[in-house]
Amino acid sequence: MPQSLTLLAVSKTVPAQTVLQFALAGQQAFGENYLQEAVEKITHLADSPECPPLEWHFIGPLQSNKTRQIAQYFNWVHSVDRFKTAKRLSEQRPEGLAPLNVLVQVNTSGESSKAGVPPHEALALCQQISALPHLTLRGLMTIPSAMPTPASHLAHNATTNLEKEFLVCRTLFQQLQAQHIGRADTLSMGMSADLELAIQCGSTCVRVGSALFGARPAKPD
Ligand SMILES: *Cc1c(COP(=O)(O)O)cnc(C)c1O
Repeated sequence: MPQSLTLLAVSKTVPAQTVLQFALAGQQAFGENYLQEAVEKITHLADSPECPPLEWHFIGPLQSNKTRQIAQYFNWVHSVDRFKTAKRLSEQRPEGLAPLNVLVQVNTSGESSKAGVPPHEALALCQQISALPHLTLRGLMTIPSAMPTPASHLAHNATTNLEKEFLVCRTLFQQLQAQHIGRADTLSMGMSADLELAIQCGSTCVRVGSALFGARPAKPD
């Protein structure tokens, strides 16, 4: 069965005017990392009569003090990695809005510094989250640790580390589907530099920033 593919336009640091241009050209889904910047853009564009309805995805690090606004302004969250935060998002989802779509972020690299739940804990966390009333569990997301190392480029037929990480996530995603946990229809993998490999590895949602909008200025913080 051919997989469907969503292009998530990652518009962090991109001005609202530029987002509007893309929206008028037909792009609907936008991803943001920085909450304050995002809320300003979302409210500005929601008030702008020429802007079509947009779908906003929060893809940045999640902290407890951010959940209220995320639950209020966003349609999706890709970076859930703890039950406690998921529970807050569910409790804080305003009445009258559709359930918030969430993805569980998996740490496929094994680096302890990285966000995300370890692969062996992912399915149990998904199971717990799928019971929360104001969330819809849609699948998994990963940010791999690194680009392929030069050594793996040289090795014949070597599976790159990157590919291994994508495949760890895809295997978990297939288990979610097989076990009917949540509505497992979304696997968020791949950014500007690695989107082709991610698609080959089964991604249904690529998060693309610089390849659409050009290089970003250095992070403000
Ligand atoms: C910034 C960001 C992206 C987009 O990165 P590009 O390399 O500009 O395509 C995708 N995913 C996450 C989580 C990001 O923070």
